[in-house]
Amino acid sequence: MTTIFTAWQGVQRRIASAATTSGRTANEITLLAVSKTFPAEAVRELYLCGQREFGENYVSELQAKAHALQDCPDLVWHFIGPLQSNKTRIVAATAAWVHSIDRLKIAERLSEQRPAHLPPLQACIQVNVSGESSKSGVEPGATIELAKAICHLPNLALRGMMCIPDPAANTQQLAAQFRMLRNLQQQLRAEGLPLDTLSMGMSSDLELAIAEGSTLVRVGTAIFGARNTKGQEQ
Ligand SMILES: *Cc1c(COP(=O)(O)O)cnc(C)c1O
Repeated sequence: MTTIFTAWQGVQRRIASAATTSGRTANEITLLAVSKTFPAEAVRELYLCGQREFGENYVSELQAKAHALQDCPDLVWHFIGPLQSNKTRIVAATAAWVHSIDRLKIAERLSEQRPAHLPPLQACIQVNVSGESSKSGVEPGATIELAKAICHLPNLALRGMMCIPDPAANTQQLAAQFRMLRNLQQQLRAEGLPLDTLSMGMSSDLELAIAEGSTLVRVGTAIFGARNTKGQEQ
C-alpha cells in the first residue's frame, strides 16, 4: 500500500533526480504539498513526516485547516487558488504566501489587511502563459507594471511568479510556457526587482519545470492521491 509518507519520498526522489539532470541541486527547489480537498488529518500526517509547506486553493479550506492545525506553529500555508476581493482578509490573516495575485486591487487589499504582528505576505504574480482566455493570471506583457506597483505595497514582499500551463499542451509547448515565465522573471530582475521564486511544475510535469528553472513545485496528486473533486475543481 502506498502511504502518504512513501509517496512523499517518491516525489522528493523525482525532484532530486530532475535537479541532478539539470545540473542543479535539490535544495534549490521547494516542495509545496498541495492538500486541497484532503482533510486536516492528512496534512498533519505529512507534517509529522517533516513536510512544512502546504498549499490550498479554496479560502474556506485554508481557514478550516489552519484552525485545525494551530498546534503546528511552523507549518507554512501557501494560498494558490483564484482569489476574490471579498475573501482577501482571511488569506491575509492566515497564509504566509500567496501565489495567485493577478491584479493590483487584490494585492492592495492583501497589503492593507495583513495583520501588523505578522511578517509581510510573501507574494507571487500569477502569469497567464498559455494565452487561454479562460485562465486566470495577468497577461505576460502587463506583468512588469503590476510587479512594480506591488513593490510599493508595505505589507507584501514580491518574491516571483507562478504559472499554470495549458493542461492540453504537449511537452514542447509546456517547456515553452515554463520558459516564458523564466524569461519574464529575468526581465524583472534586470529592472532591479529582487525576485527569487519561480512557482511552476505539478505532479505530471515537475521534471520539465525543474529543467526550466523552477524553484518551487506544487504537488498534490503524486503525494495525496487522486482527488474526489465534488465538482468544485476548475
Ligand atoms: C491542484 C493544484 C496543484 C497540484 O496539482 P497536482 O496535479 O495534483 O499535483 C498545483 N497548483 C495549483 C494552482 C493547483 O490548483
